[in-house]
Amino acid sequence: MSAPASAPAAPPTVKGWCPGALRPMATGDGLLVRLRVSAGVLTADRLRAVAALARAHGNGLVDLSQRANLQLRGVTDASLPALLAALDDLGLLDPNPDAEAVRNVIAPPLAGIAPAPVDGAALVQALEIALVGRTALHALPDKVGFLVDDGGPVSLADVPADIRLDTLPDGTVRIALGGTASAAATAAVVPASDAVDTALAYAHAFLMLRDRCTPSARRMHDLVRQLAIPAIQSAAASAVTPSRTAPADPSPQGKVDRREAAGRKGSSSSLDDHRREAAGRKGSSSPATFETPDEIPAENDKDDPFRSLRDHLPLRGRIMAHSPLAGPALLGAHRRFLGVGAPFGRLTADQIDTLAAHAPGGLRLTPFRLVLLPGADRQALPALAAAGLVVSPDDPRLAVAACPGAPACPSGQADTRGLAETLAPLARRIAPSGVTLHVSGCPKGCARPAATAVVLVGRDGRYDAILDGRADSPAATTGLDPAGAADLLARHIPKKEGRP
Ligand code: SF4
Repeated sequence: MSAPASAPAAPPTVKGWCPGALRPMATGDGLLVRLRVSAGVLTADRLRAVAALARAHGNGLVDLSQRANLQLRGVTDASLPALLAALDDLGLLDPNPDAEAVRNVIAPPLAGIAPAPVDGAALVQALEIALVGRTALHALPDKVGFLVDDGGPVSLADVPADIRLDTLPDGTVRIALGGTASAAATAAVVPASDAVDTALAYAHAFLMLRDRCTPSARRMHDLVRQLAIPAIQSAAASAVTPSRTAPADPSPQGKVDRREAAGRKGSSSSLDDHRREAAGRKGSSSPATFETPDEIPAENDKDDPFRSLRDHLPLRGRIMAHSPLAGPALLGAHRRFLGVGAPFGRLTADQIDTLAAHAPGGLRLTPFRLVLLPGADRQALPALAAAGLVVSPDDPRLAVAACPGAPACPSGQADTRGLAETLAPLARRIAPSGVTLHVSGCPKGCARPAATAVVLVGRDGRYDAILDGRADSPAATTGLDPAGAADLLARHIPKKEGRP
């Protein structure tokens, strides 16, 4: 069932821009219309409306992207105008494509629901308003994105972003550039009240400096790699202007000079360093009067709304989302919400209706291919599971990452999600947690940049297999059909598991 090695698969198309609602992207199954839902919050009514629009104007399939956006698929040129009019009526449309593109912010999934050192919702709102209002920033490349981590129970530390606003335990905010919390370079540590202005100053700095890079920087990490942090701080300091749009002071701590803020504490030290330092400052000038999750006693606290989350974790503290435990830790019933996964990142309109039926407190989108239903009753879990949604950390589909593949993606050379569903039980037997199988429609590997035990890459309707590598690594075996892929996977099940 395998074939001799042959020519490598054709390189995937690199588009270099991101779709929106006002600038849909042509894909293999029609136009893709991306909804950038403000702060990732949707009411149940809006959710039902989105499901109805997906059916009426698309093919009824909706992706949940890794930047917490909803993507309606299968829209046609004929159906697009009515869809946009309806989205506008729902308040889900930006005033223009540039505003839509620049409002690229990942929000803390539990903002306003869980205790946190700062008001994450206020930070996100201020950032979104400022990004839309400052037209000079509309020149940012589409992919340049922001992230706000309010220091609440769900950590966004492992979610990459170009400009990060990471809250420290004392309520100050670390502005970091280009990557995950551990990989990004620290540019400044500022009071929460200055965080948005400071972050925007670094966005301006990116625009000022990007052409000094060769080639011109497309992402913040390009700038950080080629220019020293002091040069970026200097540009940011010259760019800082008082915000005209920030509506709320998330955590007033007294103003500091903004020029100083833009450059203060700049170093490449890690977030952990800053957390340790901030923890040392706590109790002196900190305005926080509530417990951060790290401080909640780990045992015998029946009022701790996040105890059930912590019970899934080997460590006390915040959930390091995107780690092998992250998604699973959020799934299922928790005291204040249900965590529900979209299988391989995709929802049907019927599944969205089911979510809406059990979303008394609306829905929170996350960048982890799952949604949170605040206030939902755990009695809803069977109905959600019956709808094909992922509600258990033991669901074998969590062992597989799969991109849309063919025919949804024009670069896809084979089906991905059908095969992923079929192979999930075998993939779970390779290891009890984490992703063990990556099914990719082409070598671009959109669903998973990290190495995986087994990677199946579509080529001419069949699959090349890569072992312990990425989708663009050299193949060990080529030309597998689905049965051959299953055989190969079975050979990777540890002997003690009992291979089939
Ligand atoms: S990896 Fe998948 S989604 Fe990405 S370009 Fe290839 S087929 Fe398309």
